Amino acid sequence: MNYDVIIIGAGPGGIFSAYELIRLRPNLKIAIFETGGPLAERRCPITEGKAESCVRCKTCAIMNGFGGAGAFSDGKYNITNDFGGTLYEYIGKTQAISLMNYVDEINLSHGGQGTKMYSTAGTKFKKLCIQNKLKLLNASVRHLGTDINYIVLGRLYQELKDRADFYFHTPAEHLEKLENGGYRVHYKGTETADCSKCIVSVGRSGSKWMETVCRELDIPTRSNRVDIGVRVELPAVIFSDLTDELYESKIVYRTEKYEDNVRTFCMNPNGIVVNENTNGIVTVNGHSFEDPSRKTENTNFALLVSKHFSEPFKDSNAYGESIARLSNMLGGGVIVQRFGDLVRGRRSNHSRIAEGLVVPTLAATPGDLSLVLPKRIMDGIMEMIYALDKIAPGTANDDTLLYGVEVKFYNMEVALDENLESCHKGLYIIGDGSGVTHSLSHASASGVYVARKIVEE
Ligand SMILES: Cc1cc2nc3c(=O)[nH]c(=O)nc-3n(C[C@H](O)[C@H](O)[C@H](O)COP(=O)(O)OP(=O)(O)OC[C@H]3O[C@@H](n4cnc5c(N)ncnc54)[C@H](O)[C@@H]3O)c2cc1C
Repeated sequence: MNYDVIIIGAGPGGIFSAYELIRLRPNLKIAIFETGGPLAERRCPITEGKAESCVRCKTCAIMNGFGGAGAFSDGKYNITNDFGGTLYEYIGKTQAISLMNYVDEINLSHGGQGTKMYSTAGTKFKKLCIQNKLKLLNASVRHLGTDINYIVLGRLYQELKDRADFYFHTPAEHLEKLENGGYRVHYKGTETADCSKCIVSVGRSGSKWMETVCRELDIPTRSNRVDIGVRVELPAVIFSDLTDELYESKIVYRTEKYEDNVRTFCMNPNGIVVNENTNGIVTVNGHSFEDPSRKTENTNFALLVSKHFSEPFKDSNAYGESIARLSNMLGGGVIVQRFGDLVRGRRSNHSRIAEGLVVPTLAATPGDLSLVLPKRIMDGIMEMIYALDKIAPGTANDDTLLYGVEVKFYNMEVALDENLESCHKGLYIIGDGSGVTHSLSHASASGVYVARKIVEE
């Protein structure tokens, strides 16, 4: 089997590289290998109502398959260099923004028209935040919503499916460099496919495989950070001034006690809290829907603290994994606690939560997050909740729910040049799997970028 280009991973990075390659060179022979299934086959037992909590499927339908980790996400495309990755360090700020806008145009032309673009430009909240020792980061946010995001992905698949060979349920097992300068992908034990150029876009779920590829092909890597914290859920009305104007606000707070940065992440107005399974570890995340009938009375967002480690410990992800495992051990999965219980130093229980004002949108185990999160992280989160209370009064109410733990793992950073090409000519590493991006818009933009580089060559 010979191809001009093989793409490994059909998340946003892989999809947008295929889209751009096909647009610019319709005759290229392209194959896409994907561990998970086509979009329509992606079904999580929890969302299907067949299981209450994560049953640890062999291939996680939330993380793997056409659309990647973003398929059931809230579809928030943040157009900014302030967060979501460091793509601009490789390709420049102007080009990075221009590619993110290009991705936005494609999303709009594939079903996203009519969705709202929010912006922090000129908002009164900047001043209010600064007055309360909070910093609001700059961004424009296209909010597709989980339902429209799904439609966009469906249309992109219809457009690509007859122009590229899709190998679903087929993880690339081994990547070999050939003497002729090409690459050989080994799959299903004994089968192989060769190509001249290879784009690896395996996301977070492919992090362990990515590490193996880098080790085997001697590609230098650097350890990255891990973000640890909780997901906050409160009545939507408490945050409505912010969310009505900005939808998603990325706010950073510098703690007084340790001078650590705590930040808000992934805000879901009128959304739901969900489980996430990364390599068998259950953590928490959030979604929201455009469809008014699927909106809830609650808003959720994460509060995260970044941890970087230096000598002798380098494995930031293992640290995050251990904390997540601890919560899984104590709670059988995700733990939920009322803020009032946390402040009083007692665990939450079903009756106290049921009596509270916030109806949880995720069935998690009531417990005590202070037994899971290190004191330094817990103190930072509590300080930030009190700081947010000043711009959104009610955030620090006793009934505010905290779900733990939320962990954002980052892939180690792969050494790449300004073309996102590794030290091996023709081997490009993009998206979250490269450690360069951590978001839908950056991952998608990196896909368009390498496609254009390949065509230029
Ligand atoms: C629940 C959730 C909500 C999110 N919400 C948002 C949001 O609103 N906004 C935002 O910007 N970001 C969001 N994110 C993050 C966003 O989804 C990712 O940043 C983005 O999907 C990264 O794209 P990617 O293509 O690099 O990787 P991925 O989307 O992870 O795709 C990688 C694909 O590669 C496949 N793969 C892995 N290993 C192999 C292999 N060996 N062989 C073949 N295939 C392989 C995987 O199955 C996967 O489908 C969310 C993530 C989650 C989990």
